[in-house]
Amino acid sequence: MEFQVIRKDGNARYGILRGTHGETETPCFMPVGTLGAVKGVTWDRIGQMGYSLVLSNVYHLYLRPGLEILQEAGGIHPFTGWKGLILTDSGGFQVFSLSKLMKITEDGIYFKSHIDGSEHFFSPEFVVEFEEKIGVDIGMVLDECTPYPATYEYAKHSMERTVRWALRSIRARTTDKTAIFAIVQGGVYNDLRLKCVEMLSELPFEGFAIGGLSVGEPKDEMYRITRLVASQLPEDKPRYLMGVGKPEDILEAVEAGVDMFDCVIPTRNARNGTLFTSRGKINIKAAKFKRDFSPVDPECDCYTCKNFSRAYLRHLYVSGEINAAILNTIHNLHFYGRLMKDIREAIKKGKFQEFKRNFLEKYSSQEGSG
Ligand SMILES: [Zn+2]
Repeated sequence: MEFQVIRKDGNARYGILRGTHGETETPCFMPVGTLGAVKGVTWDRIGQMGYSLVLSNVYHLYLRPGLEILQEAGGIHPFTGWKGLILTDSGGFQVFSLSKLMKITEDGIYFKSHIDGSEHFFSPEFVVEFEEKIGVDIGMVLDECTPYPATYEYAKHSMERTVRWALRSIRARTTDKTAIFAIVQGGVYNDLRLKCVEMLSELPFEGFAIGGLSVGEPKDEMYRITRLVASQLPEDKPRYLMGVGKPEDILEAVEAGVDMFDCVIPTRNARNGTLFTSRGKINIKAAKFKRDFSPVDPECDCYTCKNFSRAYLRHLYVSGEINAAILNTIHNLHFYGRLMKDIREAIKKGKFQEFKRNFLEKYSSQEGSG
């Protein structure tokens, strides 16, 4: 994997990340394809919307379809049919949030499947092996995601373990076809975060993620830690803020120097009827859209907005029609893709601050939150 920062505007960076299966401009947003598909849209549509990097997840792929089938298929690309770049989260976060966590030891994590209760074990070495064997472009290391709130002692302990596991992950590598990113932990404690950055930066990772945020902490804490960590990470490596977020959060983090994002918000919200527009979010279920024959967002040129009205989308949604999820997802992912494109253009022109101010002013001017 190669990464190049081409232009800086303040701390915001425009760059290009190249991997085995293509390249993406940064800052970028990765649609979430947990099970090897982005819910509600096919790969051709993902590609048409300009996305060339998607996120998947070791925890989920390991449970279903499992390593054997993925290997028999020749890897995750032939199995899923996606031609672009894939980054996999290790599943550490899912083990904490989804499965029944049994115990964490220095060796790794023992957990029960959320599907059938069967017992499993992840070590840092196994996660790297899995990511290499299925042929992802970027694999995240196994980390211990510090919950919020956590005491200083707890956060320190899990940060130090995350660093030890990162070192084991690097040692377990057998190929450079799969790039490995480390994850900075340390809760909301400045000194722990800085210590973690210092120790991880010495190791030969291709990129660094900021983990353990967007887990319930106040927004100003999230922004503070993001700014602190981003300012100390190596300049020449991509920086990825995991699980974030909302358009306003992405803008804050880009300003701090973050290059990569993922979040379930655009796809999950689409399935719940919440749509993003340049004037804020709307809830398509609302009765006020019953006779609203205008598009979701007059400024959007996605397939949904060019062809269908709010009234029609509301009708599909309240009738439980599967097209509601599809058309809403197309719009929301298009909105995020457009936001990232506009951010990149603004950085290239040295006008990121101006863009951010204008976007937020308009985005909060909304006809209401639906
Ligand atoms: Zn649209």
